[in-house]
Amino acid sequence: NTGDIRILLLEDIDRTARELLQKEGYQVESHTSSLRDSELAEKIRDVHVIGIRSKTKLTASVLDHAENLLAIGCFCIGTDQVDLEYAAKRGVTVFNSPFSNSRSVAELVIAEVIMLARRICDKSMEMHFGTWQKGSTRSREIRGKVLGIIGYGHIGSQLSVLAESMGMSVLFYDVVPLMAIGKAKQVKSLAELLVSSDFVTLHVPETLETRDLIGRTELETMKKGSYLINASRGCVVDLQALCEVMRSGHLAGAALDVFPREPSDDGPYFNEDLARWVTEIRDLPNIILTPHIGGSTEEAQEAIGAEVGGALLRYINFGCTIGAANMPEVTLRSLTVAEESHLRVIFIHQNRPGVLRQVNDILGDHNVDKQMSDSRGDIAYMMADISKVDSTEVQALYTKLEVLSCEIPKFLS
Ligand code: NAD
Repeated sequence: NTGDIRILLLEDIDRTARELLQKEGYQVESHTSSLRDSELAEKIRDVHVIGIRSKTKLTASVLDHAENLLAIGCFCIGTDQVDLEYAAKRGVTVFNSPFSNSRSVAELVIAEVIMLARRICDKSMEMHFGTWQKGSTRSREIRGKVLGIIGYGHIGSQLSVLAESMGMSVLFYDVVPLMAIGKAKQVKSLAELLVSSDFVTLHVPETLETRDLIGRTELETMKKGSYLINASRGCVVDLQALCEVMRSGHLAGAALDVFPREPSDDGPYFNEDLARWVTEIRDLPNIILTPHIGGSTEEAQEAIGAEVGGALLRYINFGCTIGAANMPEVTLRSLTVAEESHLRVIFIHQNRPGVLRQVNDILGDHNVDKQMSDSRGDIAYMMADISKVDSTEVQALYTKLEVLSCEIPKFLS
């Protein structure tokens, strides 16, 4: 019964999600901020689903307070704030929304390409300080210029379309061969992209390989008078080298949305904690600094709400784990026309030999219409649709599976 499902939403989650879940008949409690540890421990005890953004930390000790928790919705891009492995071992499935803000990032980059080419930030700053300094020197159009995209994934490929529609030529470099969109062309090496581009923009994930991907050598390989944009991850560019290469006049400008260390809360970013480069960077001309806002738009929040809200709904109603961050991805065609004698069984268990045979022994008295099972590390997830089940048999079936789950050695000590 959907009315029995209790959902706790924290941190002002977009109303798209709230409305979606309420419409389904779930009991939804919403808070505009995160909760203090003691309050979170109390509130999480009874709920079936918790929705959070990045501030709420769902550590193993917080999850230990949850007695009925089935799923966690991270209404954001990352999942660092949740102990994913521990959640999986407790049978709690975690969903997030890795790509809902791709368009927002791509639009910011397009804006920055134009702003850098026209030195808009410096001009605006001069006006703020009362200086009217007109002139066309070092101001350029972007039409006909080459945009070099490093990382042609969700954001890089969106950007490619936008840039071409504004008359730019697009080159991209990626570690895997990819189908180019429009007239974009994949180049064979990073160096080839760097020497050929007027604007270089980074859209790679944070990995061991991408750490300091753009260092002094790469910056010096870029064309004289070109521009660098980083809205991917802070560790991808060596900022000290960037400062030096900018000061030498080799690069004409840069835009940074991400930094190696970022403050967790709003406030002055130039606090003592942050490294020396912060001061150096702030003094450079034609450099745009933004506080990791590439994906921060109302449209992206709405898309995140719809995606994570929808995933939670499909999980609660149908057990579908497609898109889960810590479970194998399993689904069967939805039981949209649920017949009385049909039942969907979900069994999350330790991935070890013989368990599935024992489960099927229990289900075997009925007609197993469809079944799918998959594993991810230590966790296995079985979904089965069975028919010819009398409503009086459901509780007995549940009890047998529960007894079996108690017999399987526990994941947790
Ligand atoms: P994605 O996974 O869709 O694409 C990444 C691409 O980079 C892939 O095609 C991959 O093959 C490629 N790649 C991986 N390693 C590479 C390497 N060493 N050299 C060249 N290419 C490489 O990711 P996405 O959604 O496009 O996101 C890209 C980056 O943007 C991520 O780091 C993400 O964290 C960041 N991001 C930032 C913001 C923001 O607010 N600034 C918002 C969303 C995403």
